[in-house]
Amino acid sequence: MKQTRRHFMAASAAVAGSVVFLPYAARADSHSSDVFKTTAGDITVHPVDHASFVMETPIGTIYSDPVGDAASYAGFPRPDLILVTHQHGDHYNAETLAALVGENTMLITNPAVYGMLPDALKAKATQVANGEETTFKALGISAIPAYNTTEGKQKFHPKGRDNGYVLGFDGFRVYISGDTEDIPEMRALEGVDLAFVCMNLPFTMDVKAAASAVAEFKPKYVYPYHFRGRDGGTQDPAEFAKLVAGAAEVKMGKWYS
Ligand code: ZN
Ligand code: ZN
Repeated sequence: MKQTRRHFMAASAAVAGSVVFLPYAARADSHSSDVFKTTAGDITVHPVDHASFVMETPIGTIYSDPVGDAASYAGFPRPDLILVTHQHGDHYNAETLAALVGENTMLITNPAVYGMLPDALKAKATQVANGEETTFKALGISAIPAYNTTEGKQKFHPKGRDNGYVLGFDGFRVYISGDTEDIPEMRALEGVDLAFVCMNLPFTMDVKAAASAVAEFKPKYVYPYHFRGRDGGTQDPAEFAKLVAGAAEVKMGKWYS
């Protein structure tokens, strides 16, 4: 029965192909994407902006911290799962979420964002706190702490409030840092295949700290993301790439237009 339905959907998508896929192609042109081969199937990463990205995976389409104009996501399939790391405007926007969610979209957020969600979104959401785990279909999701450690910066991301995430696909682990400095919990990660690591000042960390942490937990691939900062705090992903050479393969996404 399931099989029949899948075939039917594939057929109807093919018929509608010229309509469905043209905007998608346009989107693929304006934002670089990378395909990662895993034993569970291909994972395609589409950077959208700053901290926002879309992953098409064997489990479904996952949006991470989608904010901004919902039209920026028009070329992607509707999300099966949306991850929100924390409440800052470059990571969480209730209006964007309301425009993006479909009937079956599930949200996973930290508890602080969960408490802010409008009722319609809250009904689709699960909160996970630092150190907790949950699942979405066959995907394991662990909430990793994300916080500032430097004196005077702890107010940006106080310890215990915000999340990073580790996603466990069958045989492929993805780490999304959220906004954090190079905390011990990041350095202690094991078996990460693909990492998204933030670097900007004053809010997170500089390239040196980010590179030092990455050299310690050694993901196979790493995207520097969230690297525009304030008051000269923008970090250079090329410098980061030089610093981590040999420890991880750096993927350069088109995070800013
Ligand atoms: Zn933040
Ligand atoms: Zn941020």
